[in-house]
Amino acid sequence: MRIFDGHNDVLTELYEAGGVSAAPGFLTGLKGHVDAIRARGGGFAGGFFAMWVGSPGVMDFSLIEAAGHAPYALPLATEISQRKALDTILTQIDIIAELQKLEALSLCTSVDGIEAAQADGRLAAVLHLEGAEAIGPDLAELEAFHAAGLRSLGPVWSRSNIFGHGVPFRYPSDGETGPGLTDVGHALIEKCNALRIMIDLSHLNAAGVRDVARLSDAPLVATHSNAHGVAPHARNLTDAQLGLIAASGGVVGLNFEASFLRPDGRCLADVPSEVVMAHLDHLLHHLGEEGVAIGSDFDGCTPPDWLGSADRLPALVAAMERQGYTSDRIERICWSNWMRVLRDTWGA
Ligand code: ZN
Repeated sequence: MRIFDGHNDVLTELYEAGGVSAAPGFLTGLKGHVDAIRARGGGFAGGFFAMWVGSPGVMDFSLIEAAGHAPYALPLATEISQRKALDTILTQIDIIAELQKLEALSLCTSVDGIEAAQADGRLAAVLHLEGAEAIGPDLAELEAFHAAGLRSLGPVWSRSNIFGHGVPFRYPSDGETGPGLTDVGHALIEKCNALRIMIDLSHLNAAGVRDVARLSDAPLVATHSNAHGVAPHARNLTDAQLGLIAASGGVVGLNFEASFLRPDGRCLADVPSEVVMAHLDHLLHHLGEEGVAIGSDFDGCTPPDWLGSADRLPALVAAMERQGYTSDRIERICWSNWMRVLRDTWGA
């Protein structure tokens, strides 16, 4: 079964490992969750490759867990400067360009491009910006990033910026943490619609999700989020939010982070497959067969031990089979639902 994945943080891993010079490691093997060898081994055929700027002092769930701070409430990370963010993001664009040069992947800007990459036996990568700190208030950088291949954007990560406010990592909690998008945030949504860049809800607070739902003319998408009805973490989507996404013809990608999956909110890799299936069942109930996909968060999460890297993805397919999902449903979750919503959003 080939799998298209809604979110990975390989570019951050390579950035932290030294930047462009670390890119060849993707072909020969990395310590993290995704590289070319693990991808081939697990049917990981492509996905959204996130660009992200770290906050100072942030944040390792497993360290928080080790310190016994669960249930927990992390403070909102400090805002970061556009200059620092731009510097980081431009390097991450250089890294994915290098990966393309090394023929490790194809940077795709259309569904036809994704299918062509598949026909060539290449990993299909969609460039995503997770938190738009590198974009200034006149949005000029957005056009430059679009020209570089950007086709998906989350206005905020779990912190505040000039566009809005991210949802903090809180458990138990919901996303009702204050105001939503700013005026510049509204302009960003309109410009993404005009450029047909997909907008990601995954790190927005609840008011921000409502703002995007009201403003955007595209299907609503959360690339890597789970069901609040199963695990009451602030990063998860409430049934009301799932209703908005379903009404728009949108998609939610299942996140593998243990503290978002586990009903007790703990960051422990001991997560039974039944818990993962409870999220998928819940998402299917609210979104329907065409609204559920995968959004692993590989290289940015603590996954269940049995699903610990891209080569373990067949274990998730097996869990869906044990749950009685039809092969047609499994194929939609693993591949076609992403293709459908991308075609609807991009128009190509
Ligand atoms: Zn994320």
